Amino acid sequence: MDALISPKRRTLLQALGAAAMVAGCGEHRVPTATTRPLVHFAGATMGSSFNVKIAGAALSGEREAAARAAVQAAFDDVVARMSTHDAASELSRFNRHASTAPYALSQDTLQVFALARQVSEETAGAFDITVAPLVDAWGFGPSRHATIPATERIRALQPGVGYRLLAVDRAAGAAAKAQPGIAADLSGIAKGYGVDLAARALERLGHTDFMVEAGGEVRTRGSNAAGRPWQIAIERPDAVPQRAHFIAPLSGHSLATSGDYRIFFERDGRRYSHEIDPATGAPADHRLASVSVVAADCAYADAMATALFVLGPDRGPALAAARGLAAYFIVREADGSFSDRATAAFQALGGTLA
Ligand code: ADP
Ligand code: MG
Repeated sequence: MDALISPKRRTLLQALGAAAMVAGCGEHRVPTATTRPLVHFAGATMGSSFNVKIAGAALSGEREAAARAAVQAAFDDVVARMSTHDAASELSRFNRHASTAPYALSQDTLQVFALARQVSEETAGAFDITVAPLVDAWGFGPSRHATIPATERIRALQPGVGYRLLAVDRAAGAAAKAQPGIAADLSGIAKGYGVDLAARALERLGHTDFMVEAGGEVRTRGSNAAGRPWQIAIERPDAVPQRAHFIAPLSGHSLATSGDYRIFFERDGRRYSHEIDPATGAPADHRLASVSVVAADCAYADAMATALFVLGPDRGPALAAARGLAAYFIVREADGSFSDRATAAFQALGGTLA
């Protein structure tokens, strides 16, 4: 069978203002009396798109241009440091550094390494950025060549995968590999980090009511144009055209989603997702279609969503509940329907099925 990888990075969460939500879903009636000015701009980053909405007082053209420039600069910065698709990025250079000698890195990249390590520890290694050689072996890396690697190849790569093989020393401004061949992949966390940086840039410009979304990862602050929490839609897996499945009202929170329905390939009726289980060296293989995590920081939500996806429909919800995380799981049933499961912390946020 032909291999297929969605050429499009996931733009999976539609981040909707209340008015747009009415149009998009046709089910929710929202009072329009309190509508305040809304600025919306979009662009491209990290192989995907980004969207920013700023609500509140009307913005001058100058203030809007400054917001746009600051957001674009934040995303460009993250790509220049953390992309594995750009051979000149700081991360790509680090990955080519075939030595155990400490390698000097920017504080941004070190901070993401450190957060990645924290999520690895919290998830017993389900999230692990040193999975890079396995991601490549399965064709989800920069070369994008869908393949099922031989078992011996996976076995040969596995000793070089493990988050403890990467030492981060933020005070010294460097990271060191325990073996010269270790490589890191930040694709499961950097998008969220970019969203955090873009949001911080908007805050520095004095904005208090906005949402920033990139490739489906979202950060919100304050309220939307209707003076209500931002209405963030979690996409229904497999739906063409894209369709909202659940609407979460968010204010001051981030939401990130990992799923198997945008980036995958199929062979002989089996689906191979781009989330790799470091324990097996193979794509996560289970009935979970997507998991969304709500947290203060988008980078954390992004990494944790990847980890919970790897853990699957049983261990994922169990770990999320034990840690008090707000997480929402959509499971693919045998008959093709979906069932969902939310932790208590997620239920406490409110929200409705679309
Ligand atoms: P998306 O990029 O679609 O938002 P994720 O946030 O789940 O999806 O990130 C998936 C990407 O993270 C993969 O394409 C791969 O580059 C990388 N990755 C795959 N498995 C893991 C893992 N177990 N831990 C950390 N990163 C991973
Ligand atoms: Mg992720």
